[in-house]
Amino acid sequence: MGFKKNIIYIVFIFIILSMTGCTDNQSQSLTRTEFLMDTVINLKVYDKQDKKAMDMAVDRLKEIEKRMSITISNSDVSNVNKNAGIKPVQVHEDVYYVIEKAKYFAELSHGAYEPTIGPLVELWNITGSEEKERDFIPTEEEIKEKMKLVDYNDLELMEDNYVYLKRKGMKLDLGGIVKGYAADEVKRIFEENGVKSAIIDLGGNIYALGEKSDGEPWRIGIQDPFSVTGNYIGVLNVKNKSIVTSGDYERYFMYKGERYHHIIDAKTGYPSKNEVSGISILSNKSIDGDALSTALFVLGVEDGTKLVNQLEDIDAIFITKEKEVYIQENLKDKFTLIDENLKLILNPY
Ligand code: ADP
Ligand code: MG
Repeated sequence: MGFKKNIIYIVFIFIILSMTGCTDNQSQSLTRTEFLMDTVINLKVYDKQDKKAMDMAVDRLKEIEKRMSITISNSDVSNVNKNAGIKPVQVHEDVYYVIEKAKYFAELSHGAYEPTIGPLVELWNITGSEEKERDFIPTEEEIKEKMKLVDYNDLELMEDNYVYLKRKGMKLDLGGIVKGYAADEVKRIFEENGVKSAIIDLGGNIYALGEKSDGEPWRIGIQDPFSVTGNYIGVLNVKNKSIVTSGDYERYFMYKGERYHHIIDAKTGYPSKNEVSGISILSNKSIDGDALSTALFVLGVEDGTKLVNQLEDIDAIFITKEKEVYIQENLKDKFTLIDENLKLILNPY
């Protein structure tokens, strides 16, 4: 994780916090900032100064990371990967749940969200933490080789929480879904401890729990994909909602004047290429929003919207490279565009 990215996140979080903050006694909120899951975590509880709930939430985040990270060598996910083509591996129930969801969204999006993307992610190695200029990219042959190892149909979920990748060299990567699950878990823990008003922010993967203390909706800033300084293009008014954003502006490098970002299209083997620059998903469950934000980034405005239209409780905001903001009918009263350089369009699909 690069220093620059930390700064970006911190600025972004600062903006979110200053926006979500009420005018009254908000300074009394209980706040916790951590660096976990390769991102800045910021938890803010507004109604109950309960340190215990906060500790439980942070412990749970650490546990999730320990089980689901691919960079931790003895995590459940790493064990599944090491045993690809060898044998099924028993994983914790929560890991199984996330993998089951991952497979569901892979099927739903026909592989736009692709949890076995690991070999390609590794090949491209786009973390955003190194220099923004590169003088090489992988060769066609290398990409073709890795593409053969990417296919959610060869991810098998078995009885008793056993998971199997059918071929040697295959690799699960839950990076596109796990923060959403983690946000849902923090929400659960907060609620179980009587917290009714909180902002759970896992590196831009946000759950706005309840409402502000004055009964007003939370005001969540939508990140401007064209500026790295943490500006926002608009504001969403929400209560009890997850807002997950994916974009090409955080983790990327430049090669010969072109941007190569961290969301890979399994069908081409390259970072996805379409009109979308940023996407935000509103949903009740953050795990859904996270998987869908990645899927819709790959699918683009038209196909992405068609997928969203099949689902209940899901809304999408697309920001295109042409500086258009596509919103759906029922977001009309909840979303306010702030940036005058962008054009608001009612999603026609
Ligand atoms: P972020 O993690 O930056 O918030 P995303 O939720 O969109 O953004 O997840 C991107 C991560 O998911 C990548 O860093 C990679 O680990 C993984 N990934 C990349 N491409 C795909 C894909 N097509 N489907 C599923 N996961 C992907
Ligand atoms: Mg995602």
